[in-house]
Amino acid sequence: MATYTPMIQQYLKIKAEYQDAFLFFRLGDFYEMFFNDAIQASQELEITLTSRDGGGEERIPMCGVPYHSAPNYIEQLILKGHKVAICEQTEDPKQAKGVVRREVVQLITPGTVMDGKGIHDKENNFIASLTAFDSQIGLAFSDLTTGENLVAICSHFDEALNEIYSVGAKEVVISTDLPDEWKKQLIDRCQATLSYEQTTTITQEILEVVKDLHDERLTSTFARLLTYLQRTQKRSLDHLQLVKVYYLQDAMKIDLFSKRNLELTETIRSKGKKGSLLWLLDETKTAMGGRLLKQWVDKPLVDREKIESRLAMVETFIANFFEREDLRTLLKEVYDLERLAGRVAFGNVNARDLIQLKKSLQQVPAIEELLQTLQNDVYLTKPLDPCEDLTQLLDEAIVDNPPLSVKEGNIIKDGFHAGLDQYRDASRNGKTWIAQLEQQERQHTGIKSLKIGYNRVFGYYIEVTRANLHLLPEGKYERKQTLTNAERFITPELKEKEALILEAEEKIVDLEYQLFLELREKVKNFIPRLQILAKQISELDVLQCFATVSENRHYSKPQFSQNGELFLKNGRHPVVEKVMDSQEYVPNDCYFNHDRQMLLITGPNMSGKSTYMRQVALTAILAQIGCYVPATEAVLPIFDQIFTRIGAADDLISGQSTFMVEMLEAKNAIAHATSQSLILFDEIGRGTSTYDGMALAQAIIEYIHEHIGAKTLFSTHYHELTILEEQLTSLRNIHVKAIEENGKVVFLHKIEEGAADKSYGIHVAELADLPKSLISRAKEILSELEADKTDMPNPVVVKQVVKEEVFSDAQLSLFSEEEPKAKKASALPKNVQAVIELLKTMNILEMTPLDAMNELYKLQKKVK
Ligand code: ADP
Ligand code: MG
Repeated sequence: MATYTPMIQQYLKIKAEYQDAFLFFRLGDFYEMFFNDAIQASQELEITLTSRDGGGEERIPMCGVPYHSAPNYIEQLILKGHKVAICEQTEDPKQAKGVVRREVVQLITPGTVMDGKGIHDKENNFIASLTAFDSQIGLAFSDLTTGENLVAICSHFDEALNEIYSVGAKEVVISTDLPDEWKKQLIDRCQATLSYEQTTTITQEILEVVKDLHDERLTSTFARLLTYLQRTQKRSLDHLQLVKVYYLQDAMKIDLFSKRNLELTETIRSKGKKGSLLWLLDETKTAMGGRLLKQWVDKPLVDREKIESRLAMVETFIANFFEREDLRTLLKEVYDLERLAGRVAFGNVNARDLIQLKKSLQQVPAIEELLQTLQNDVYLTKPLDPCEDLTQLLDEAIVDNPPLSVKEGNIIKDGFHAGLDQYRDASRNGKTWIAQLEQQERQHTGIKSLKIGYNRVFGYYIEVTRANLHLLPEGKYERKQTLTNAERFITPELKEKEALILEAEEKIVDLEYQLFLELREKVKNFIPRLQILAKQISELDVLQCFATVSENRHYSKPQFSQNGELFLKNGRHPVVEKVMDSQEYVPNDCYFNHDRQMLLITGPNMSGKSTYMRQVALTAILAQIGCYVPATEAVLPIFDQIFTRIGAADDLISGQSTFMVEMLEAKNAIAHATSQSLILFDEIGRGTSTYDGMALAQAIIEYIHEHIGAKTLFSTHYHELTILEEQLTSLRNIHVKAIEENGKVVFLHKIEEGAADKSYGIHVAELADLPKSLISRAKEILSELEADKTDMPNPVVVKQVVKEEVFSDAQLSLFSEEEPKAKKASALPKNVQAVIELLKTMNILEMTPLDAMNELYKLQKKVK
């Protein structure tokens, strides 16, 4: 049997260690891929699949990309969630005996890329790691681009999943023995790439960054992550900052369903930032500020003092308009200091970056001066460090407009390094000498058009046009190249000078590169100071951003109540208000207190129920991140958690709008909410039949009322539920007002006390331009139904809920199996009977126009 060639054997040996990555195997000027890698990569990258003889019986599939265009291909694979192992030749092929030595120099993964399309200015690129302990879970995050490191302990897997989802980690490092269900959820819910690392040994290097941690679980969780990063990146990670512990209870908890439903950082529909709360808020001027804003929106605070201190700074900025505008102008010139520090450490910083660093630092004294004039002793206690020594160093070393490449010279300023100056003199003198030679030669020969030129192949030459050749004296000039109209010559003295100039230039390029590397090492020492400065500047940026938005949109400063009271006067939904002309937005009040804990909202479709509920939640979030809120007056408690659930029928977009999802989400909320929480249940119970849905809705309301006591906004289309107000002491009915004008419904979007008097579903259908005959038929059916209410379900009289009856998973089998008994069969044909039965049980009032159409279609099909 034939065996593979030594090179293929080498390939297979290396590939065995990188099973889950594309192995980019360097062969001369190409990165080649073989076997399955080649087949898959040719499809993913749309490049030609070829094959080669590898010594085996069959030809080996192969495809390749030129090394200089590899970054583009690598980026494409990473964006699709793949990993790429870069395998280089690590010895000079000329020196090699046998196969050239090759090694993987870096594994690039979605969580470790440093640049390209996957990296956004205003977003972190976190890689996460999970470690399961007996009853808890250790969680670690690292952003290689900024050097931030975080760890936390979660009490259950869902909590960890929430965190990973909310920071948007694209890769999660775990041990192989984690439950398969967890792995599946990480992939499905967080769209994360999984990577495996078994080692959690704490080395000296790890000790250096974890020295503030005093919990072995946290240390070993982080050790797993750092070991993975070191193993895969194989380079300096000096910019990694000290690992910070954060406590989940320090932030308002908003689980991933709620984050999605409230559209905090991306919209449900487009998954983009536009239309989200983050989009509304983002008036930051720096990339670092943009990232911090996202972190703050993801984690509203629960500590009153911290919230108040942010609010106080926002107030200061609002009171000082001109200073704020000046600050915004200065911030615009501040480059991404955190990512720059990352690139310095990673070794991929260029001279232009360093010039931007210098320019950024040059803004700092002016920023500091400006801050001095503001009166705020909470935020402005520690002056900004302008790192003058670094600014000076960069100013002395680097020219103002350096080239992109760091290997081709023209970077270092004259006067920075004596040796470099000498070479430059030599080169410049040489060039002057050549310019003079040109003059002399013209005089000697009398050829005015004679010129001295340079090209890479022949070096310096004297060029004489064909017409003038006869004027050249014999002997002195050696012919080098013939062109159509001219001849090129060299002379010994020209060759001699050329050697000097070229040698000097080569030395200049080498020396400049050397000096640049030294400079980069020096800049490395400033990384911790730059990182502190970056943090301060990003906070200022976010706070000025809050002030700007608050002022532009006429928000007011929230107050916090001690007794759980909530009062919003003229509240608005911040995003809807912005998207629509604010003149048209109808503001609404909201009020909760000790005996008004639950609001049951009724009102026609499209009247503004969902908007109203969300505006309360978004207002609470804005207040707790330290921003002013869209209301003319706002008093709020500090919420520990917010839950937002939408009935499945309303959630058309997500694609998984099954009733089971609706119930699972509801369960999650009910299981974790406390009396300090805010719950929004929007048309819960909608995803099933009327009886089921109403029974569930009622049971959920009772349960929250009796066992949880959270502030709850519950919108429903089951009018029958409004009677609950009589039995549940802290539940109140409210409704969105609509009036009928000339037989048509007009939505006022105004919230009023009490229950809505009727449903306006048919009017909405009319507005939606359904066929006139269908509408009039629906009106007929409605009046028949209203005349004969016996078929309508009535809510069960509230039973006294037993206090001990606490929530457990087992209780989730809430699905009622009982369907209304079919009426006695008559003599009509079976299909007609069936249609009649269906018509009887159908609840037109609760149908969306689309549902009605669908049902009608089905009925028609049955009798056709
Ligand atoms: P519902 O949940 O009652 O079906 P929505 O809250 O989805 O209604 O609101 C439907 C539409 O009505 C929104 O998209 C918005 O355009 C408009 N709307 C809602 N609230 C207001 C308001 N307070 N002022 C003006 N327009 C509003
Ligand atoms: Mg709605």
